[in-house]
Amino acid sequence: MASYDERAIFETCESAIRSYCRNFPAVFTSAKGASLTDTSGRRYIDFLSGAGTLNYGHNHPAIKQRVLDYLASDGIVHSLDLHTTAKQRFIEELISTILRPRGLDYRIAFSGPTGANSVELALKFARCATRRHNVVAFTNAYHGMSQGALAVSGTRSKREGAGMPLAGVTRLPYDGYLGDADTADLLEKMLDDHGSGLDLPAAIILETVQGEGGLNTASGPWLRRVRQIASRHDIVLIVDDIQAGCGRTGTFFSFETMGFTPDIICLSKALGGMGMPLSVVLLRPDLDVLAPGQHNGTFRGNNLAFVAGTAALEMWRKTSFEASIQDVAARVRGKLADIVELHPGHGAHVRGRGLLSGIGWTNAAIAGRVSKEAYARGLIVETSGAEGQVLKLMPPLTISPQELEAGLAIVEEVVAAVVVADVPHNRHAVLEDATANASM
Ligand SMILES: *Cc1c(COP(=O)(O)O)cnc(C)c1O
Repeated sequence: MASYDERAIFETCESAIRSYCRNFPAVFTSAKGASLTDTSGRRYIDFLSGAGTLNYGHNHPAIKQRVLDYLASDGIVHSLDLHTTAKQRFIEELISTILRPRGLDYRIAFSGPTGANSVELALKFARCATRRHNVVAFTNAYHGMSQGALAVSGTRSKREGAGMPLAGVTRLPYDGYLGDADTADLLEKMLDDHGSGLDLPAAIILETVQGEGGLNTASGPWLRRVRQIASRHDIVLIVDDIQAGCGRTGTFFSFETMGFTPDIICLSKALGGMGMPLSVVLLRPDLDVLAPGQHNGTFRGNNLAFVAGTAALEMWRKTSFEASIQDVAARVRGKLADIVELHPGHGAHVRGRGLLSGIGWTNAAIAGRVSKEAYARGLIVETSGAEGQVLKLMPPLTISPQELEAGLAIVEEVVAAVVVADVPHNRHAVLEDATANASM
């Protein structure tokens, strides 16, 4: 079948904002676990996982069965925010399996189905609770594409897409942005110094690992200092755990091993279990200041997502689930370290944390070439970072050892092929590296 014809309807009828499908243009038909199939029957290994939405893989059998049973029983599908047993069970599971065992006491606010909805609501809570408007956000942050979420995000081209000023935000450098300098010093100084020009913020919003921003990681000491600084100035600390949460870094929340607790947490992506849209804001009870209906939305009662999300959270009842994620992460990180050691050119280095890891290069083009060539060999793996300079591996947390090995083998082969192909242009590449280093 000519793939040109298959894609014509998308290319001629769908808006130019199409994004992922440009790099992975197959027309997909079905998927199971970490495997996708296209119309020609070709199989792909999925290391994209819906950018962290498919943490339990495609159509996880236990999750899917619960959704099928629920539909078969005429369970209510849409309910605005009416009480339903599906929603009740989801809340109970979130509290008993995730929050209480971790000693966390948060109210649960259903924000609307997307991650951006969750970020918007988190910002509303912080602004209304503190009666301040400014928010501190960090370089290379990604928080979503609606106006408020875009205002706290960093990517220039995406911000330009707003078509209007994105106000109410002060940008400060994330951990590591200025090399060895501790950027928490700057945050502290600017908040303490009444001449700094920094309006006292309602909130500081951050990701502990910047998934879209290039797998930049914040250290425990930096995060704990930001926590202390926020507390001292009565600033609400929001952790956007939409991508790094739900087990991606090896624990349910990405901050669990970092020795601090946020005031507000945004969760989405994998929360809906098998790709069902579901988002929440978890907030300190005293920040729950909005009036009834002051935030609302038609799709805050997606009961299929509650059912799937509950089935997914149940996997966390066994502590062995966390250990199994950490085993997979250790395997991935070990392989990435080996690849970097074998092919150290272009400043190759391992980035990220847990199963939100990858390889960065100073020559930004390398990651894109690796992604493209990996796709040709049947592996879907994307790039991240402002220049697309990082190859980002996000296999399902539940991937089988065989599929993991097969996917990693493709990464290894392709990196070798791309780096070798780059040899004739070596002089050029060295120059590119020098420029990249100079601008860092
Ligand atoms: C994906 C993502 C969002 C936005 O979620 P959408 O569902 O795409 O609106 C926000 N923050 C982070 C960290 C994300 O990865």
